[in-house]
Amino acid sequence: MNQMFQPSALASDGSRLVDPFGRHVSYLRVSVTDRCDFRCVYCMAEDMTFLPKRDLLSIEELQRLCDAFIDKGVRKLRLTGGEPLVRKGIMTLVESLGRHLRSGALEELTLTTNGSQLAKYAAELAAHGVRRINVSVDTLDDKKFKAITRWGDLSKVKEGIRAAKAAGLSIKINAVALKGVNDAEIPEMIRWAHGEGMDLTLIETMPLGDIDGDRTDQYLPLSVVRASLMDRFTLEDIAYKTGGPARYVTVKETGGRLGFITPMTHNFCESCNRVRLTCTGTLYMCLGQEDAADLRAPLRASEGNELLNAAIDEAIGRKPKGHDFIIDRRHNKPAVGRHMSVTGG
Ligand code: SAM
Ligand code: SF4
Repeated sequence: MNQMFQPSALASDGSRLVDPFGRHVSYLRVSVTDRCDFRCVYCMAEDMTFLPKRDLLSIEELQRLCDAFIDKGVRKLRLTGGEPLVRKGIMTLVESLGRHLRSGALEELTLTTNGSQLAKYAAELAAHGVRRINVSVDTLDDKKFKAITRWGDLSKVKEGIRAAKAAGLSIKINAVALKGVNDAEIPEMIRWAHGEGMDLTLIETMPLGDIDGDRTDQYLPLSVVRASLMDRFTLEDIAYKTGGPARYVTVKETGGRLGFITPMTHNFCESCNRVRLTCTGTLYMCLGQEDAADLRAPLRASEGNELLNAAIDEAIGRKPKGHDFIIDRRHNKPAVGRHMSVTGG
């Protein structure tokens, strides 16, 4: 075991957030809504039940929570969902977080989106200081795109990508590798993304939440994808990091970057620097564990941040060592009951 990864009595020191394993928490992901205008087959069931609106934090409350984390040393913040760009008032939050970019308190503000609303918002995102975004595209085939997302329209997403490029945003495409669905298309997706000057990251499906189908049918280990890509491409490992769990290679033939997020085949918890906040003010210290802390009650209990800060410190003090995801025929149950749309990607 890595020495840095030994549990210790060290929790948050009050100003910075340090977990019991000595990991400095500097990255906050905020799921601003659990709602979405798509219904991706690996993410949610078609008749998904969403949270009642009254349970959601207001935009002002989300702002206050983000401010508290930034005060405690969070340097990178990603807005996600559900689909973050369908949340009413989202640009008010983006604008307010932009302040922290200008002051230097925050290094980076990013967003993970399905791209459906990007044509409308790309210019505004850039104006408020967003420089990089992730757009999820699992296939370049219109019919397959409809089949995967159920409600999505690929031409709208492509229009959004064009608008984002025109606004000067760097784009990383995220694609979930799905057995028998998009595996044969991955070389084409690499050429497309790299040809457009975008990085591409492949993601293994994770067992989060009940979906309509069987996950064992979808799961495709990226070790298998990588081996088959090596028949066509020269992949060169590089040390490039974006603060996330992806490991990158350069594809020699295209000159572009390809990332692999492998929660199933390679556990990356050792260097985890992040926590996840939901739109109801629940803080998940690990994507793959049920343990969570309620920050809504201390947030609402007083106008000052003392109770909130104490609750954040206490939560970071219980950040677990890692997840225990397994997908096989015997473990055909979600590792955790909540969907990816609750905590975001
Ligand atoms: N709606 C936005 C989007 O799709 O980009 C943001 C939220 S979505 C939950 C974030 C990312 O998680 C997407 O790239 C999506 O493909 C991925 N995702 C959703 N469910 C997943 C699962 N069970 N396993 C792996 N990735 C998943
Ligand atoms: Fe919506 Fe993103 Fe989930 Fe697809 S992956 S259903 S776009 S939240």
